[in-house]
This record gives sequence, structure tokens and C-alpha cells, in this order.
Amino acid sequence: TDRLKGKRALITAAGQGIGRATAEMYIAEGAKVFATDVNGDLLAGLSCETFVLDARDDASVAEGVARAEPDVLFNCAGFVHHGTILDATDDEWDMGFDLNVRSMYRTIRAALPGMVERGGGSIINMSSALGSVIGAPNRFIYGATKAAVIGITKSVAVDYIKQGIRCNAICPGTVESPSWHDRVRALGEQLGSQEEAMAQFVARQPMGRVAQATEIAALATYLASDESAFTTGHPHIIDGGWSGQ
Ligand code: NAD
Repeated sequence: TDRLKGKRALITAAGQGIGRATAEMYIAEGAKVFATDVNGDLLAGLSCETFVLDARDDASVAEGVARAEPDVLFNCAGFVHHGTILDATDDEWDMGFDLNVRSMYRTIRAALPGMVERGGGSIINMSSALGSVIGAPNRFIYGATKAAVIGITKSVAVDYIKQGIRCNAICPGTVESPSWHDRVRALGEQLGSQEEAMAQFVARQPMGRVAQATEIAALATYLASDESAFTTGHPHIIDGGWSGQ
């Protein structure tokens, strides 16, 4: 219950799914948590400091980072675009990269100077098993953005290792969350069968099930804690055996 004692943790997209599960676990492990989301209503019920932070807005990010002064930054905000390269529009590409990639440029740029000044920090970036680790159908923009997240992670890790900053990425397989249920529903409508849609998503994981958000939160907790002091610059894959065959 005290693995994160004394640490200040800022989380983006903490309103639901993996971000929320992580906020709850960080609180349980004794961190001072600043749980944020673009949709403030979703933050209700979290027993920590909560406020609206739009990861797509420079001023909102700067304000949130100044308020939290984080030792741990968990960049969880992200969006799944569905489609191939020929389905994608320029606007969708720009939006995908702004939310999934540039958001991390914004938050890390804002949080790093304080971390360096205080002598250390752990930055955790939400990537995906899908992208640079393994390809998946209809994930053109999404895969490109999540691969870019690994590039950001390695670059920051290398540049700031001597200042005590660690920067790692989390690469999950399919995780049950509100937006995942939306994706299953959309595929079900396309296929004319919700059962078939669910079966297709589950089949990607050789374990025969999708992950619970708490399983990803456990990895985010390890990466935030000093237990992970010897790891930096890596994509940490947690995908039910999807890419490990
Ligand atoms: P989700 O997609 O259900 O929820 C996303 C949250 O992001 C919402 O609370 C939403 O309000 C918030 N958000 C949207 N725009 C924002 C912005 N501009 N600023 C701040 N917050 C914003 O949650 P999830 O499925 O757990 O996904 C969380 C992260 O994990 C994403 O980066 C996603 O790509 C990644 N991920 C998810 C899965 C999965 O299968 N669910 C797998 C791999 C990676």
C-alpha cells in the first residue's frame, strides 16, 4: 500500500478505462494523485485531486503540470482510429497525431524541467502492442501514432538518463474499456453479429480473453515505482501473448 508513497503523479485521460484504473491503483499505493481528463464529469468518484486537462491544448497542459509538479507523469490520453490508409482523411491523421503523439510532446516538455530540478522522475507513455510491435487490420493512423510514441519514449529516455529521469512505454493488447466496447459494437454492426465481433477481438489474444484495465494499471504502477529503477527507454509489452508467438 505504499509503493508510491511520497510521489506526485499526474495522469491524463483518468476518467475511464486504463487511466482511471491506474489513478485508483496509484491512490491505493500512497501517491498524491492528480487525475485529469478532458471530460471533467468522468472524474467524479475518484478520491484524489481532479481537474480538467485537455491534452490537445498547450495552455491547459502547462497549467495542469504547474499545479501537479509531478514526479510521475502517465500519458494515457489516446484515441483509436478505424481504417486503412485509403479510408483515412487528412483531418483524421492530424487529429490522431495531435491527441496520441503531440499531447506527449506537450506534457513531457512541460513536466521535464521540474523533474530535472527535483532530481528525477518517471514518465510513462501509453503506446500499444499494435503499431511497431505487431500490425493489425484497420489501424493505419492508430498504429502510426503508437509507433511514434515509442520513438518519443526512447528519445527522452536517452537524453535525460543522467538526470535521473526514466521514460518507458506501455504496449497493451486489447483491454476492456468503454471505448473498446464502442469498437466491438461498431464492428458488430458491420458484421451483423455482436457475438462474431466480440469473438474476433478475443481471438487476437492467444490467452482467449482481453485484459482488464487493472492488469495494465499494475504495470503502470510498477513503472511509476522505484521497483522499476533499472528500466528505461523500453516498450513494455502486455498483450496476452498476441505478439509473442
Ligand atoms: P478510453 O478510450 O475508454 O477512454 C479514453 C479517455 O480519454 C476518456 O476518458 C476521454 O475523455 C479521454 N480523452 C479524450 N480526449 C482527451 C484529451 N484531449 N485530453 C485528455 N483526455 C482525453 O480508455 P482506454 O481504452 O483505457 O484507452 C486509454 C489509452 O490506452 C489510450 O491511449 C489507448 O490508445 C490506449 N490503449 C488502449 C487499448 C484498449 O484495448 N483499450 C489497447 C492499447 C492501448
